[in-house]
Amino acid sequence: MAELEIHQFLCLSDNYGFLVHDADSGVTGCIDTPEVAPILAALDETGWSLTHILNTHWHPDHAGGNLEIQGKTGCQIIGPRDEQERIPGIQTAVGDGDVIDFGGHTVKVFDVPGHTSGHVAYWFPDDGVSFVGDTVFALGCGRIFEGTPELMWSSIQKLMALPPETLLYCAHEYTEANARFAVTVDPDNGELLARVKEIEATRAAGKWTVPSTLELELRTNPFLRPDAPGLQKAIGMEGADPVAVFAETRARKDSF
Ligand code: ZN
Ligand code: FE
Repeated sequence: MAELEIHQFLCLSDNYGFLVHDADSGVTGCIDTPEVAPILAALDETGWSLTHILNTHWHPDHAGGNLEIQGKTGCQIIGPRDEQERIPGIQTAVGDGDVIDFGGHTVKVFDVPGHTSGHVAYWFPDDGVSFVGDTVFALGCGRIFEGTPELMWSSIQKLMALPPETLLYCAHEYTEANARFAVTVDPDNGELLARVKEIEATRAAGKWTVPSTLELELRTNPFLRPDAPGLQKAIGMEGADPVAVFAETRARKDSF
């Protein structure tokens, strides 16, 4: 087993594509299939042969390229059991607690419903990385399309329990817009304010803000901090239940 290599590239307007590769086994996975051409270009550029697609959820900007990519590469498609009928081409359906062997690397599957009802995240514990789709974003979280704030908050808490040094690979570059919102609900968080400056500089230089670490999200992402007294005070919910604070924060973002 070699060190896991990760190749990141842009798809569509603000999606990220990711190839993950183990050089010893030659196993190569594509996390979601937002757009065919950039994925094929990334395979070309790396010289890696695609063996697997790992889908996080059914949305077309995550599974829309499945069949075309599978047709061109003959890869196997792994995806969430609870969205099997909505994701084209799934051959291996996975769900909470499942463990996959990826060229010698362990992959643990988490059900993280809320953005969609069957959304999963993939955690590579030996490699310290997790692909979280549209569940947690840098300074944000996914919109709740198929669930309740309670459900989304319990999903986010599963990811919050990973080792803090875990690199979180989310599926979109939404960070700058998320940052503009985050400071409205957590205005006295000095570390957040410093991070926002850094993000603005990073984006102004045309660079990416993904991945980030869980540790940084725990300290600055308002959607992971509904129990933070400063945030609760700023939105007028001191001492409230974290679920209620999370729901209010998400509602405010929806209309921001
Ligand atoms: Zn989505
Ligand atoms: Fe998406």
